[in-house]
Amino acid sequence: MSSRKASTYEVRDEGPGYVGIIFCPECNNMLYPREDKENKILLYGCRNCDYKSIASRSCIYVNKLTHDIDEIKLINPDVISDPTLPQTEEHPCPKCAETEAVFFQSQTRRAEDEMRLYYVCKNRKCLNRWTE
Ligand SMILES: [Zn+2]
Ligand SMILES: [Zn+2]
Repeated sequence: MSSRKASTYEVRDEGPGYVGIIFCPECNNMLYPREDKENKILLYGCRNCDYKSIASRSCIYVNKLTHDIDEIKLINPDVISDPTLPQTEEHPCPKCAETEAVFFQSQTRRAEDEMRLYYVCKNRKCLNRWTE
């Protein structure tokens, strides 16, 4: 495993989707969000008793829709000068067709994003950021 160094392109995993902490009305323990995949709703469940509630705001789903764009916006284009980042010539910039780009893996802790790659165009006039 490579060590995670604090760097300028660390993407913060917070934002408009944050709903705060909700407590169980039965036993006052913290409720944990969980996804009801069948019904596509967000539930809050207590780990101490059987209490469950449907989230009043489905923020997790809103967040998923805007997530890609937001994370790309948070990438600092200065990463193109970072000599430790790998470069590719096989992923031309979709904006300016520059062939050189730096890339790195998503820095969020979301399991679904772990393998996602982000690219930054090395053309200093463009600095386009995208994901595939
Ligand atoms: Zn409870
Ligand atoms: Zn470009």
